[in-house]
Amino acid sequence: MDWSRKTVVITGASSGIGEATTERFVKEGANVVLAARRKDKLEEIQRRLSEYEGAIAIKTTDVTSQQEVEDLIQYALDEFNQVDVLFNNAGLMPLSFMKNKKVDEWERMVDVNIKGVLYGIGAVLPHMLERNEGHILTTSSVAGHEVFPTGAVYSGTKFAARVIMEGLAKEVAKSNIRTTSISPGVVDTELLDTITDEETLDNMGKADRQFTPLQSSDIANAVFYAANQPHNVDVNEVIVRPNNQ
Ligand code: NDP
Repeated sequence: MDWSRKTVVITGASSGIGEATTERFVKEGANVVLAARRKDKLEEIQRRLSEYEGAIAIKTTDVTSQQEVEDLIQYALDEFNQVDVLFNNAGLMPLSFMKNKKVDEWERMVDVNIKGVLYGIGAVLPHMLERNEGHILTTSSVAGHEVFPTGAVYSGTKFAARVIMEGLAKEVAKSNIRTTSISPGVVDTELLDTITDEETLDNMGKADRQFTPLQSSDIANAVFYAANQPHNVDVNEVIVRPNNQ
């Protein structure tokens, strides 16, 4: 596929999987619109990747604001005329035991990991339906397939994200719009920094990790694989984890 005329919008682009996926698409020559809250990080990535052919535009966005997500898609359309790929990737994982009642964190996970995804789909879908073309990818997780102690709410949001993508796939089945859930296993990123529950952190410190985390570039490769298929091939889900997880 020739990516030089394509535009990719990535949320959660300021670090980890979103940053690595940005790098992958920019190196392929695509125009990439980076969205996240930390403007300094987005600018740093824009500078670091400026030598490559693909253009980078940045738009500070909090995905918990429907208006900001609408503005993000409009900005991408204003800059590049079309959106070929939306990667709903922003997310957080403040794991905790339910008895510790981290209500604020439950709400943030619902707001970012579920509502942020819905706002992205809602903002881009009219444009893709009008063109009868486009690809929406969302980062779910292996935790969107199985649940573990401290992960009840996080898994709930990731199951939801995956099921929302399944529902979307059925609704757009007769169009040329493609949909993919990306379900990573453990990846070495800043994601664990969002955990504040002392008991969870204590348990994690004691746990004997049997596997080596993947790198963000491993997930970026999976995203690119799904996006780079011929138009008649719709990769609906990719699960990628360390081989001994
Ligand atoms: P990072 O913490 O490195 O990245 C999270 C990204 O989400 C950051 O760019 C952050 O940017 C952004 N973000 C968080 N809140 C908001 C918000 N309100 N609005 C906009 N952007 C936001 O972790 P990962 O790269 O690991 O996470 C990416 C995705 O991968 C998440 O959905 C996560 O759940 C999922 N995942 C990760 C796994 C792992 O092991 N790392 C495993 C399975 C899934 P900023 O703070 O600048 O807004």
